Amino acid sequence: MGEQPLLELAGISVSFDGFMALKNLDLKLAAGELRAVIGPNGAGKTTFLDVITGKVRPQAGDVRFQGRSLVGRKEHQIARLGIGRKFQSPRVFEQLSVQENLALAVSQPKTPVGLLGNHLTPAQRQRIQQLLGVINLSSRAHHRAGSLSHGQKQWLEIGMLVVQDPQLLLVDEPVAGLSDVETERTADLLKSLAGNHTVLVIEHDMEFIRRLQTQVTVLHQGQVLCEGSMEQVQADPQVVEVYLGTSHQEQL
Ligand code: ADP
Ligand code: MG
Repeated sequence: MGEQPLLELAGISVSFDGFMALKNLDLKLAAGELRAVIGPNGAGKTTFLDVITGKVRPQAGDVRFQGRSLVGRKEHQIARLGIGRKFQSPRVFEQLSVQENLALAVSQPKTPVGLLGNHLTPAQRQRIQQLLGVINLSSRAHHRAGSLSHGQKQWLEIGMLVVQDPQLLLVDEPVAGLSDVETERTADLLKSLAGNHTVLVIEHDMEFIRRLQTQVTVLHQGQVLCEGSMEQVQADPQVVEVYLGTSHQEQL
């Protein structure tokens, strides 16, 4: 019983006008796991997230979350089942304070902004204070989100997802354009969320992936090329060939 994966993709194929973006893809994630997914541009990484969140419907295969099939469900239904997605560019409310952004994220939809903070339960207030610490923004709680650095906005948006307590958090390229220090802190933040949440992160930045110290899945041409620790993946001749044999800049 305890062996059931939280998320399982089995035989997933996606075709865009005959071009196979994903080919018979299999992947399992255990509850509480932190998983990194890497692969060259065009490997199918974003499409893979689109299939999980219901944005793209696969031509074949099944996606099961807590034993339930997600295929055919609408995006908002899948989100409500406990799957949160962080897109590449931050989507925060620049005019609101950091704390108000978090309050808005825990609130019922349609709460007037003027009431933000007044209607929260003590447990919700406490959760927001705790999360401000987790995302390194306690000292910025009352600053406008628009005044934050790019990295701080990314952390705020991660906080806005986490405050909704998703079982599974999908994060697409969170460190593009971040400084080295912010990149390290983002890795530490995602590590600290694993355990209580299941986190799947897509990234190109190899220093970031290394710092996650976690299981890596390499995608290539819509398929899983290999899985293992960063050291195992780096030593895999197929992975080396894919990264060095293409025009790609990245090197493992
Ligand atoms: P990655 O995120 O790994 O860079 P994507 O999942 O975005 O890769 O894309 C995988 C492949 O599928 C690419 O060759 C891309 O051009 C193609 N693709 C993605 N979305 C579409 C679409 N809506 N229509 C046609 N082709 C697409
Ligand atoms: Mg992508």
